[in-house]
Amino acid sequence: MRGSRILGTAFARPNLTALTSSSPSSSQISRRIRSAASSLPRATQKHVRSAPFSTSAGKTGSLSRSNDRESRQYSTKNPQAEAPPFAFAFDIDGVLLHVATPIPGAPEALKFLNENNIPFILLTNGGGKHETERVKDLSQKLGIELTTDNFVQSHTPFRQLVGGPDSLREKTILVTGANAEKCRLIAEAYGFRNVVTPADIIKAHPEVFPFDPLLDTVYTATARPLPKPVFTPGSGMNLKDALKIDAMFVFNDPRDWAYDIQLITDLLLSQEGYVGTYSPKNGDAALPGCGWQQDGQPQLYFSNADLLWSTGFHLPRFGQGAFQAAVAGVWRRLTNGHELQRRVIGKPYSETYQFAERVLATHRHDVLKSRGHHEPGTLKSVYMVGDNPESDIAGANDYQSEAGTEWSSVLVRTGVWSPEHSGEKAIQGRFKPKVIVDDAREAVRWALKREGWTGPSL
Ligand SMILES: [Mg+2]
Repeated sequence: MRGSRILGTAFARPNLTALTSSSPSSSQISRRIRSAASSLPRATQKHVRSAPFSTSAGKTGSLSRSNDRESRQYSTKNPQAEAPPFAFAFDIDGVLLHVATPIPGAPEALKFLNENNIPFILLTNGGGKHETERVKDLSQKLGIELTTDNFVQSHTPFRQLVGGPDSLREKTILVTGANAEKCRLIAEAYGFRNVVTPADIIKAHPEVFPFDPLLDTVYTATARPLPKPVFTPGSGMNLKDALKIDAMFVFNDPRDWAYDIQLITDLLLSQEGYVGTYSPKNGDAALPGCGWQQDGQPQLYFSNADLLWSTGFHLPRFGQGAFQAAVAGVWRRLTNGHELQRRVIGKPYSETYQFAERVLATHRHDVLKSRGHHEPGTLKSVYMVGDNPESDIAGANDYQSEAGTEWSSVLVRTGVWSPEHSGEKAIQGRFKPKVIVDDAREAVRWALKREGWTGPSL
């Protein structure tokens, strides 16, 4: 087993929302992101195992859709008389790709599904790129045309928080990640209007972090003026005129842990999220939770709970879950043992599976309707094909679909799990898949047989 999962609190119930028409075009996003990425000291790598954030979206909510819909990739070659009542969800790393190389059989399996109008979704805990950029990259690597319509990565559900009665669209949010500037551009593309990064704060107030900043050149290159000044005691400043952060988002793995933990902790201790303040409720034994996080402090969101992930090195490396553990550990020390209240999404959390099911249902409806199935019927089964028992498999096993769709977990041998290195003990209980197969192609074959598929063979 490559890693273990840090538990997070259940995610709230944001409403689904569409990307705004004022969102930048895909080419604008790509240009901005390339520009931001060029200032990074090292490239963002993909997670082998990852985790997420959930969406208990309102039943009447509309799914977020890309504003850059590519041409439909599904085929008219093999139309079925009956719309298939099943679909697939694929993890990417260790299932479809090894780093940048397609895993044998995977492209053929996706191509087969496309040609036979069997819908699928790509569901990954990776992140750090806008969906448009990542899908373009995946299409090239796999040699098959993919779209953002059926693609969900770790931070995709964050865009739901732009809408709904508690919309954060006009609020001020703090984002961080491997490249906070790139994360800001993604957040802005999702529809968030006021996005602050750690760079903005440290450039305006270098004294906030009394050490040599590790990423000073990055901070200098990417900082924007703060929308409001940081509160300074004794200055006569009205608190309401000071910078207030309404939510904090960790998009992917931060680089400058020390500064980011300092900044996040400052806000968790603040009065209502005003930067530079300290809540008088902190440590008050007469209050619930001794007053910690009881004064309107900003909610802290993590997009991926993976403690470890597999890279080019022969031993697993820290993932975003390690950063989360570090924040939680510091918080426990500061508060005399109180647990950090935060929200975590991504696989294996049910909110992410719920979000994925809604995206898949809409995508399936569009695909089948375009192929002449005006009544696509109920989606009865989804096969989650993954390589990680702790995220892909456990998530599918745990998930209870509101629509009554059965999720079946299919573990492949091409990724982090192997009988030699992980063993049987790694696939017990909720980590036990419905079946173990060699690869993604075998997974599809197994499912087709189980569904009584009478169409062409893979
Ligand atoms: Mg994987």
